[in-house]
Amino acid sequence: MIPGGRLVVLGKQGAGKGTQCVRLSHHYVIPHISTGDMLRGETKAGTALGVEAQSYMDTGELIPDEVVLKMVAQRLDQDDTRTRGFVLDGFPRTVAQAEGLDDLLVPASLDLAINIVVPTPLVLRRLASRRVCEDCAAIYSTAAPPRIAWICDACGGEVIHREDDTEAAIHRRLDLYEQQTQPLIAWYRRAHKLVSVSGVGSPETVSDRLIRAIDDHRAATGGFSAPLRTSGMTSAGRAGATSASAGIGSGPDPAAEPSGRPGGAGS
Ligand SMILES: [Zn+2]
Repeated sequence: MIPGGRLVVLGKQGAGKGTQCVRLSHHYVIPHISTGDMLRGETKAGTALGVEAQSYMDTGELIPDEVVLKMVAQRLDQDDTRTRGFVLDGFPRTVAQAEGLDDLLVPASLDLAINIVVPTPLVLRRLASRRVCEDCAAIYSTAAPPRIAWICDACGGEVIHREDDTEAAIHRRLDLYEQQTQPLIAWYRRAHKLVSVSGVGSPETVSDRLIRAIDDHRAATGGFSAPLRTSGMTSAGRAGATSASAGIGSGPDPAAEPSGRPGGAGS
């Protein structure tokens, strides 16, 4: 069985995050959890959480961390994420959310945050050609339109050029993203849980790169940690122990894998 994983994908708008999350979800057989999609679903279904989220969106405010966290907590409590893990898309956005996520995962922990990096001029080009379904938010482009003229393949909705995909609005959003996310990226880097991967190239090229980076990290750190909440196994306390240099012949470590593997990785 292909190992699962607990992954976070970061990247500014236009980095191809959504596309790559879907590909990673298929490759590692883990659910793709998009907080944007979840929020749209909750809002459409008129749940208490959806109504609350909508009230913030209506006034143009950011949805508070605890509201997003509550939604993610519910999702992470389901069987598929417990046993296989997840690839998170659109969350966390802030250090507070990342800390909240870590708390939710105890006694397990996040495996890796992947930052997809693309130069701003490329993002601007991509977003200028982007077209979005008004109903289900499926993404198309002038180069890859729906099969029937601007009618969504998935739901039959109208596919439009969003008004906020203008250059000025995009610049504003990119600046905001940068401000918000730089501390988060620094935070994951300090925890030795960050890899940055270039998002330039075809979706296939980029996902090959991502998978290689994830597998390299896995090889260097002794593999993904155990499924969530499996009794008898804990990955708590591993946060600082991601280096592959763990000493050969070192004494028993209560937080180490309970296996008979001699000598550690690569020996
Ligand atoms: Zn649609």
